[in-house]
Amino acid sequence: MNNAFNYNATIRHPLIRYFNLERDRAKARIVKMEAHIRIIQKSCFHIPMYVDLAYGGDSGNWAPTDDCNWTDYHCTVCDAEWKITKNNRGEIIFDGTPK
Ligand SMILES: [Zn+2]
Repeated sequence: MNNAFNYNATIRHPLIRYFNLERDRAKARIVKMEAHIRIIQKSCFHIPMYVDLAYGGDSGNWAPTDDCNWTDYHCTVCDAEWKITKNNRGEIIFDGTPK
């Protein structure tokens, strides 16, 4: 076989196994920590004083605040983000995590 691009046979870097292992360990830690953050977010009180909100609209109006189709919320304590939308029938729809 005279193929210069036969990587399987030619490239066996000694660190590949180590990197794969470390990558999988890091991924497992991320999953664990994300679950931890969700626990914190669920027990947070989202005190209004610490919640930033931004009004959004997609009607093309230069000031989206005017027709406020939805409101984006961000709790600066636990970093949770959610959105509240009102549909045509005036029903309130929660999109994202909390309350
Ligand atoms: Zn919060």
